[in-house]
Amino acid sequence: MQSVPTLILKDPIFIQHDPGPSHPESPHRLETIYSGVTALLESEGYGGEYRIIAPRDATMEELSWNHHPDYIQRIARTSGIDHYQLDPDTATSARSWEAAIKAAGGVFSLIDRLMDGQGRNGFALVRPPGHHAERDRAMGFCLFNNVALGAHYAMKIYGLKKVVIIDWDLHHGNGTQHSFYSSDSVLYFSTHQFPYYPGTGALNEVGQGDGTGFTVNVPLGAGKDDSDYSAIFSQLVRPVVHEFKPDIILVSAGFDIYHRDPLGGMAVSGRGFGLLAAHVLKMARECCSGRVIFCLEGGYNLAGLRDGVLEVLKACRYSREKMDKILDRARTAEKSFRELDSAISFHSRYWPVA
Ligand SMILES: [Zn+2]
Repeated sequence: MQSVPTLILKDPIFIQHDPGPSHPESPHRLETIYSGVTALLESEGYGGEYRIIAPRDATMEELSWNHHPDYIQRIARTSGIDHYQLDPDTATSARSWEAAIKAAGGVFSLIDRLMDGQGRNGFALVRPPGHHAERDRAMGFCLFNNVALGAHYAMKIYGLKKVVIIDWDLHHGNGTQHSFYSSDSVLYFSTHQFPYYPGTGALNEVGQGDGTGFTVNVPLGAGKDDSDYSAIFSQLVRPVVHEFKPDIILVSAGFDIYHRDPLGGMAVSGRGFGLLAAHVLKMARECCSGRVIFCLEGGYNLAGLRDGVLEVLKACRYSREKMDKILDRARTAEKSFRELDSAISFHSRYWPVA
């Protein structure tokens, strides 16, 4: 019997979004990832483990779950225009609108397949990225908030009650945080370099009203490596996720924490991304029948980006034994450090982490 595959969502349209010459969020990012994926699928022993799927378009109504109708129209009007500057570092090209509605729609396509049992887990290999996109504003290379829209979709269409979003991108996902700041249905967890772009993500930004405690920020100084991130996932993410008991986990997977990333100051290795993915996949196995969708955010060193994505895809196929072995081995190298100690002590007022 063939096992349920890991779904890889990709499409040539995502390479057509071009924010301009010498922009770090370049079409080469996905060209490099896609050729790495092709090589992985052709390599011995991996062919049957994955299935490539295509995205659908997100509709205007679906986009309005997270974005203002005037803002959606503003992006739609860029269609066919060679270059349109939305903010100092965010721009569109003629086909960016098409790419953007398929990036969000692609996350919906993955959720559909996971919910009807055709996929074990999945990775949306899309551009433009999403986690900086606000309700009425493009910023930080992002147009629509793919992961936030995915959370809305899972709750509205499938009636899921609780969604965890884990954001390990170098940057804080201001847009995602703001989307669910007053909600106790979506738990937003972010590790990020701080202080840094976009400026949000302080420890005391915890949500408001019913959402108080359901935003968990872990601001970090530069230089954090695989075992530092592993310690955060073991000592903070894991107990919080277990207490919250999500129905699905969405990951804002940014690869700009790679040690050679030109925009970042972190020290994660290619293998480190497989380790982070293993942490998430194990939590999902324990809490929500393994339902995890990784969504591509940042990552600007092309080799690091490709290797990181491939490590995540390989982790999606780990057996229970292999996953436990990797996590057990990582645990022996985990040590506490100042920012983790502060985050644990701070968030212990909301979660059983101390
Ligand atoms: Zn980033």
